[in-house]
Amino acid sequence: MEICNACRYCEGYCSVFPAITRKKIFTDGDITQLANLCHNCRGCYYACQYTAPHEFDLNLPRALAAARAQSWERMVWPQALARLFQARGGAIATALVIASALMFLAIATLPGSGSGFYAWLGHGAMVAIFLPAFILPLVAVGVGLRRYWKEVDGGHLTLGAFLDAAISAGRMKNLSGGQGQGCNFEKGERYSDARRHAHQAVLYGFLLCFASTTSATILHYGFNAPAPYPFWSLPKLLGVAGGLLLVAGCLGLEILRRKADPQLGTPRRAAGERAFVLLLGYVGLSGLLLYAVRGTGLTGLLLALHLGGVLTFFLLTPYTKMAHGFFRLTALVQDAVARKHS
Ligand code: SF4
Ligand code: SF4
Repeated sequence: MEICNACRYCEGYCSVFPAITRKKIFTDGDITQLANLCHNCRGCYYACQYTAPHEFDLNLPRALAAARAQSWERMVWPQALARLFQARGGAIATALVIASALMFLAIATLPGSGSGFYAWLGHGAMVAIFLPAFILPLVAVGVGLRRYWKEVDGGHLTLGAFLDAAISAGRMKNLSGGQGQGCNFEKGERYSDARRHAHQAVLYGFLLCFASTTSATILHYGFNAPAPYPFWSLPKLLGVAGGLLLVAGCLGLEILRRKADPQLGTPRRAAGERAFVLLLGYVGLSGLLLYAVRGTGLTGLLLALHLGGVLTFFLLTPYTKMAHGFFRLTALVQDAVARKHS
């Protein structure tokens, strides 16, 4: 950080460098904040004159990626689970999806009285399983974010700072590389916008799927209109569009990851990161397949496999890269607060 503060060559690349220039001495909290502002575009690595074989051997993307991963693992509860997922992410996610799907298949054998998907899993059982599975991980993430705010000395939170951060995250402004040229993620020194577009597809796909579930809940409780819904209904239109974007975005991220240089990424966390992207893509794909086979004999099996993926996704949220979204947004909020006071 001190070398960069003296050099300042990369000032226009992302929010990290302007934040560096606001400091003279760097505390642990400052490093945590800078690490969560970085999104590993790697532009500064390829621009830097102090990388190996220079004696400084600077590798800022990797150093910040390590500090970033350590910050989530340190702050979420329980910490051991976060570390375990990073090391054995694929095996844990697969085992949980299978176990959850078997549980849903077992529940489906009980007598039910609903129609559509509710004939397989009653509405009451759905709420009893998914409500705590949704809320408890969010509480764990909330505890982690509170610790984060304290560690980085976040300051007074304002609505303006939150809106500034939300707009920046929504537009993925920092993934533009400063002048709209994108990242150096998968092509070495060549710029590309592919990573920004893949991230946008995942973000908006996820938000559309969430909006689909929310609209179905409003129809169920507010308008006494329970599922199943026709294709030309809000829950279905939002859900299908969201599922397609989610699958496309996850596929894009996985292709890009294979081309990227692992020496510039998060040390020893590749398995966990990959498992998360595959899990998210699986949730989107199984949801689309479930819609495609509706009314056939495959519905029960696909429903169990899809719900198993969704439940696993919720339960693992605080320990996967999903936590990255929450911590990154919080880092952008803190950055907006700091800019206001600088
Ligand atoms: S990464 Fe290298 S080129 Fe960029 S500001 Fe730091 S020292 Fe300078
Ligand atoms: S890797 Fe990209 S986001 Fe991270 S500090 Fe370097 S230029 Fe900024």
